[in-house]
Amino acid sequence: HAHEEQLKQVYERFEKLFTITPQRLRMITDRFVGVLEEGLQKDGQTVPMLPAYVFGWPSGDEVGSYIALDLGGTNLRVCHVVLKGAGKFEITQSKFRLTEEQKQTEGQELFDFCADCLATFIQDHFGDANGDVILEEELALGFTFSYPMEQDRIDHGKLVRWTKGFGNPNTEGRDCAAMFRASLEKFKLPIKMVSIINDTTGTLIASHYVNPQTRIACIFGTGCNAAYMEHIGDISKINHLGLPADEDMAINCEYGAFDSFKHEHMAEIRTKYDEHIDLHSNKPHEQSYEKMIAGLYLGELFRLCICDLIDEGVLFLGQNTYKLEKTNAFDTAFLSLIESDPTDELLTVTGLFTHFFGIDTTIEERQFFRKLAKLIGTRSARLSSCGIAALVTKMGYLDSGCGVGADGSLYSKYPGFADRLHQALEDIFGEKGRNIRTYQAEDGSGVGSAIIAAMTKARK
Ligand code: ADP
Repeated sequence: HAHEEQLKQVYERFEKLFTITPQRLRMITDRFVGVLEEGLQKDGQTVPMLPAYVFGWPSGDEVGSYIALDLGGTNLRVCHVVLKGAGKFEITQSKFRLTEEQKQTEGQELFDFCADCLATFIQDHFGDANGDVILEEELALGFTFSYPMEQDRIDHGKLVRWTKGFGNPNTEGRDCAAMFRASLEKFKLPIKMVSIINDTTGTLIASHYVNPQTRIACIFGTGCNAAYMEHIGDISKINHLGLPADEDMAINCEYGAFDSFKHEHMAEIRTKYDEHIDLHSNKPHEQSYEKMIAGLYLGELFRLCICDLIDEGVLFLGQNTYKLEKTNAFDTAFLSLIESDPTDELLTVTGLFTHFFGIDTTIEERQFFRKLAKLIGTRSARLSSCGIAALVTKMGYLDSGCGVGADGSLYSKYPGFADRLHQALEDIFGEKGRNIRTYQAEDGSGVGSAIIAAMTKARK
């Protein structure tokens, strides 16, 4: 009973740390709106609000055969997309898992690997028995490169900085479209890269292609980000380009960077665990909002809490905990498993701790872990709502309502994530919060990239 009481007290401590009140959500949202506005007015802001050079919504009638290449946080994906119009499409794809080493090698080598995987895919899908590639005409390729880029055209993208654990040298500040094109040339493929986009922009376009109510797209995966369609006249930092003010352009917010550097907006809710994750990441002080929300970090947050309790002598006395004490040993998918364990005894949790960490747990401990996972998962979902709420406020979508296409493993696989996010939107806006609907987005980096390639070809 003493242990149970101890765990109860510890839980209350974490509950205070990780609970975000409705009032706090509203405050963060207000500040977020201001930060989004600033990003549209001036270059080089923390939340950079990057113009994506995708002009307006797709008609839904885009057709044709396209290649999409997606360098995400975890995998490299190559797709062949056939757009059929009327919001319909077919897709075939291959995935190649990225190694930690590939995320840190020389930048050009990373793009060589991308081109190599593409060549394999093309050979497999369009090659004949002699190894020749059979294609009636050159295929247009849309490259999804989901890191903050500065663009002044759709086929050009200067990497602002690596995120999501990448650190390849000689890439930041360079045109990654040109780097990839150089790698592509080595393979002599009948393929032309026409567009380079962020997955969030692709998700926005793909979701609108199948559901025209879509106004915003969000990603909650390895990282966290959003894109939406802005009036060109309101992107004052590009006024000098003389683009038609009454047309629309997609903006890749890169709002995972919200609250970075000075922590002006969320200092009150940052915990020592958030601080630890930030300082031990390969990019300290950057992507602060993302580090409190995204898949790359939630498991680690949980692990750090547990490690604190091991140090305090609350957990696992007399057991060897070295496996659990390794940085990033606890995947965010484990939190999903813990929260969704269907058994009274929490047998999934038992198995998880014995199998991966060689640790025995009591039922009280497992119940505590489940509640702790819920605190961390709920905080993530609630903070996620602030960025959406800020965009909705800024664009005046609250009364009319709007659709938000959302993607990423957190959104699609974490139990209760969407419900918690919706609850937070109601906490922010009251009943009107229900006018904002989120739903599983369409595949942005495959289908979205293909649609954008089609839109780009049509514009030329
Ligand atoms: P990406 O963002 O790289 O395109 P995902 O959307 O799949 O890819 O996100 C990957 C992240 O999601 C990883 O950080 C991983 O830990 C986390 N993740 C994977 N599976 C789950 C799950 N079932 N529940 C919660 N998080 C998960």
